Amino acid sequence: MNILVLNCGSSSIKYQLLDMSETPLLLAKGLVEKIGLPMGNFTHKPEGKEKLTIEQPIADHAIGMNLILKALVDEKHGVINSLNAIKAVGHRIAHGGEYFSHSVLITDDVKKKIQACCEIAPLHNPAHLKGIETMEGLLPQIPQVAVFDTSFHQTLPEKAFIYGIPYEYYTKYHIRKYGFHGTSHKFVAEKACRILGWDITKKKIITCHLGNGASITAINGGKSVDTSMGFTPVAGLVMGTRCGDIDSGALLYICDKKELSPAEAVKLTNKESGVFGISGVSSDFRELEAAVEEGNKRAELALEVFIYNVKKYIGAYAAVLNGVDLIIFTGGIGENNIKVRQAICEELSYLGVDFDSKANQVRGEDKIISTPDSRTLLMTVTTDEELVIATDTLKLVK
Ligand code: AMP
Repeated sequence: MNILVLNCGSSSIKYQLLDMSETPLLLAKGLVEKIGLPMGNFTHKPEGKEKLTIEQPIADHAIGMNLILKALVDEKHGVINSLNAIKAVGHRIAHGGEYFSHSVLITDDVKKKIQACCEIAPLHNPAHLKGIETMEGLLPQIPQVAVFDTSFHQTLPEKAFIYGIPYEYYTKYHIRKYGFHGTSHKFVAEKACRILGWDITKKKIITCHLGNGASITAINGGKSVDTSMGFTPVAGLVMGTRCGDIDSGALLYICDKKELSPAEAVKLTNKESGVFGISGVSSDFRELEAAVEEGNKRAELALEVFIYNVKKYIGAYAAVLNGVDLIIFTGGIGENNIKVRQAICEELSYLGVDFDSKANQVRGEDKIISTPDSRTLLMTVTTDEELVIATDTLKLVK
């Protein structure tokens, strides 16, 4: 059964076509970029066939989606004979608010609720809705499923999600911590427990999703009990270009000094901050490390700040959980960056961690990186958010 997984942004569409009949098999993946700009980009990578790249204006999501569907059935670059071979579409939806604690089949009511969350996720949800509606127009007979970044964190207790502002801001405007990257945190925690032969309902786990966007989650008995991102994905750790936790007073002071509008403040904290903002070099950790090698002090500081932040959150969540059995590293940095992992893990001995620096010489694998004597285990686990979306979609359409 072929499932098309879509992640629609305001000017982009990421996709994967997976055959979920038996062991999940990737058939093709790709990216439509710069929708609505004078010149757009389309890249299609079919498995076992030649890559296709097209540069042309892509006025809207419907044109972008048409390019994808055409490429999937193309004689030279296609991977299926007809669009009838696509049995369902799974959409990544950034924000499900308090409406959704799991994935759902998309109905008019579900669309209304995703629409209602546009107000609190103006950068993401309108684009997701556009993607859903475009697919409804192009492939009306096919079921569509929504998989939310926020749903795994709907188990947070009130004491963890309420901010210290007047309560009516929660009841009136839904201002609270929601948390993101939920599909990834859930996936890696469950995968690690499967590998270890553990019963997740009896374990305390801290998952560190460290990529360009980064968040850490405390999971007790398989349920998310706290997470570092907040009302928006800008909170928590210092990230590639996002500032993470910052004193609201400092932000208001900057807005006042620089006469920033809310949209300009969003741009500053989301696109110009993080390790990129600190270093002035890059948001990419490989480029930061190269700059450190050349003696760049601000790049060194940016890495130190990032590592310090991760250690701080691990400590906080060990306290929240009153102990921890397993700490997981995932995401581009968590899975691949040996030095960053080492710098974090070397100083966790207070948690009963015995770090194995030899085992840590690993990239993109599921592996234990603590010694057999370690009371708390450390693991690298590869994440696959598209696979979660395809799996949930399959479950719901079956
Ligand atoms: P993601 O957003 O999960 O794709 O993660 C992107 C981040 O992972 C970037 O900062 C990359 O520099 C980092 N990354 C990916 N691969 C490696 C690698 N082999 N070594 C070090 N960092 C890596």
